[in-house]
Amino acid sequence: MRTPIIAGNWKMFKTIAEATDFAKQLTATKAIEGVEQVICAPFTTLSALAGILQGTPYALGAQNVHFADQGAFTGEISPLMLKEIGVKYVIIGHSERRQYFNETDETVNKKVIAALSHGLLPIVCVGESLAEFESGSTEQVVRTQTEAALNGLTSDQVKQVVIAYEPIWAIGTGKSSTAEDANKTIGYIRGCVERAFGAEAAAAIRIQYGGSVKPDNIEGYLRQSDIDGALVGGASLTVDGFVQLVAGAS
Ligand code: PEP
Repeated sequence: MRTPIIAGNWKMFKTIAEATDFAKQLTATKAIEGVEQVICAPFTTLSALAGILQGTPYALGAQNVHFADQGAFTGEISPLMLKEIGVKYVIIGHSERRQYFNETDETVNKKVIAALSHGLLPIVCVGESLAEFESGSTEQVVRTQTEAALNGLTSDQVKQVVIAYEPIWAIGTGKSSTAEDANKTIGYIRGCVERAFGAEAAAAIRIQYGGSVKPDNIEGYLRQSDIDGALVGGASLTVDGFVQLVAGAS
């Protein structure tokens, strides 16, 4: 009943020429049905990609957003600006932004509220560090991050959010969580959503796994009861890789 969602996070990779090339090749291949497909691309490539992806099964995503509509925030991009381009999804609170750009639970929450109020759908990242994993604090960390990110939303708004559970120690490292462990933590996150927003919201919200997902391991994750897709960095950078990931989720 929950449509799986595969989102490629291109991070700071691809020029406009490279992104355009990718999108032309992708739209020329036969689209796989039954899986929502999103490309989260660098800001500079979004306009060009919107022109190619409009009217196709591929949705466009950004990798960050500011919470204000406009203002003296040098270097930032507002939800209005993303909406104007035709962006549908936005990644909020990726661990790289939490680690390198001072993203906090509070700014994540403000961004989630701002995104939804402009009709952008947040992909909210939560996940524990290696030290937190090793000390057995995974559940406590994801609960705090999830509750903070969704604070103040209505249960109808929560249904529109996608959560990406991404253990930090698994991102870009080649070390992935086992499908069973990821499912257990994602089930726990769903339980947190249920306690705060009710059973209907918990049954509707999509929760992805992210962290070294590849074409050869994605099926194991998607077979799990609570995993609704994947947020994928490295393996989403080639058209072949992206298509194989989607095929693995279908
Ligand atoms: C990510 O960027 O969110 C990610 C999970 O990266 P990778 O798939 O490369 O580990």
